[in-house]
Amino acid sequence: MPVCWAKSITLPDGHRANAIYLPGDSLVKHRYIAIDDQLSGMFPLERLCLLHEMVHIKVGPDNGHGEEFITEFRRVLDANKWEVMGCIDSSPEAPKINEGAG
Ligand SMILES: [Zn+2]
Repeated sequence: MPVCWAKSITLPDGHRANAIYLPGDSLVKHRYIAIDDQLSGMFPLERLCLLHEMVHIKVGPDNGHGEEFITEFRRVLDANKWEVMGCIDSSPEAPKINEGAG
């Protein structure tokens, strides 16, 4: 599955998106995933977006973010031990809020 960076992604309804899966059509023969290049280097956000689009491919790109999508997304996150990477829950390196004096 080709993945490319996009300058920006605008959905048909006018909303912006961080990433999108394009299943291909008569104009664009090849299916690919595009990710907003503003996320480039912002690990792990770009990977999270990629994973998100890959889940869309698996459950079917037209099925939106229903229960099936959420279940599968959660499954792959768990399979990746994503929470250990500090992406979901707090990690040891999480910034501490210092209320300080004054
Ligand atoms: Zn989505």
